[in-house]
Amino acid sequence: MKTAAVLTIGSEIVEGIILNTNAQYICQRLAENGYRVNRVVSVDDEEDSIKGEVQRLLASCDVLVLCGGLGPTEDDKTREAVAKALSRRLILDESIREKIHERVSRYYNNLPRNLDKQAFVIENAQIVPNPVGTAPGQLIDFEGKKIVLLPGPPQEMRPMLDSVLEKLKTEQDFKTIKMLFFAVPESVLDQFMTDTSVKGCVKIATQASFSEGVWVRLTAPLDCFAEAENLAQRLVEKFQRNFVGYGDTSVERALFEELEKRNLTFSVAESCTGGLVSAKIVSVSGASRVFVGGVVAYDNSVKMRILNVREETLKRFGAVSEQCVVEMAHGIKELTRSDLAVSVSGIAGPTGGTQEKPVGTAYFCVTDGKRDSVEKIFYPQERNIFRSRIATHALYLLLI
Ligand code: ATP
Ligand code: MG
Repeated sequence: MKTAAVLTIGSEIVEGIILNTNAQYICQRLAENGYRVNRVVSVDDEEDSIKGEVQRLLASCDVLVLCGGLGPTEDDKTREAVAKALSRRLILDESIREKIHERVSRYYNNLPRNLDKQAFVIENAQIVPNPVGTAPGQLIDFEGKKIVLLPGPPQEMRPMLDSVLEKLKTEQDFKTIKMLFFAVPESVLDQFMTDTSVKGCVKIATQASFSEGVWVRLTAPLDCFAEAENLAQRLVEKFQRNFVGYGDTSVERALFEELEKRNLTFSVAESCTGGLVSAKIVSVSGASRVFVGGVVAYDNSVKMRILNVREETLKRFGAVSEQCVVEMAHGIKELTRSDLAVSVSGIAGPTGGTQEKPVGTAYFCVTDGKRDSVEKIFYPQERNIFRSRIATHALYLLLI
């Protein structure tokens, strides 16, 4: 398995001014692409710091990804530092210079001289085009290793990293299967995989996220990849109801795709989630094709007036009850005339729980108008973790 290291550059990182989200993203992407990431280092904007780390990290990885310090300003020193670390020259690339001038002159008339800095390329490096900003990235072959230079702004770095990984893939000898499961503990999935006899060549990694579900990554060398595919297949068969999808998916995306395929719409009546269920589905582009709308019925008066929940129901069973969520689901379905409806009502806490219905209790109802399916779950967690989990759970119930 190939190893990779990440070096993020910027005084604002080591001084704690910005959160190093680039490191997280790059590591995730590398791991998904079958690399074993063995080091993540951050340095300040000092040429000697960068140069020293490049030389040190190169001794223990196959691929080194650097990020930041490719801009035009005085504190951007990555190009110079890497050139020195590798004892290579920096060469001005006229075509890059022209492109930068052309781009920036759309906004400014008097172009500063320092812009040209971004047109310098390390000897023998390949250019990684920057579709969003001015500074191009670079991909360098050095003594059998790869060094990647990417700019700091996340919206520029992300597509560029993806294009580099795509390029390296052709030379790669590993592949990864990424899968998402929901409403099943990580330990259960892990136990099943450990008990299923697979050859040691498949590397298994799981990662639980309270709001997204459990990610499983199976990585194997190409000559043993069929073994990983086999295990993936067995997981899907065993945990059919919990399997959300392959690759970069989510419960909301899978639901969107499923309902669009079946030409169905849905609506949401939510209480304790305060709009999160609607927000999650709307985060998927094209959501209007499946999602018609929702009501945040936080106070009982809204449950009654807008959703037609009966006063009697609230008095006898309370707002967090099977009866209430059934009426909420029917109320929103009638109001919006959607094909399906989901409702949720729960106790987020930290106060408000009772012995019978402790904090962390939530009821859901999914209805198509003819058949109601009610579920109660208990997820005692911090208020906002609970809300996020419960919101995804509501969408998950529409999916299964
Ligand atoms: P620019 O042309 O914008 O100067 P650059 O390649 O020189 O690009 P930096 O100067 O290192 O990049 O960073 C620019 C901005 O990108 C930072 O101010 C910060 O907002 C963001 N950024 C840089 N590095 C990171 C990181 N590791 N994680 C998250 N954001 C980052
Ligand atoms: Mg900069």
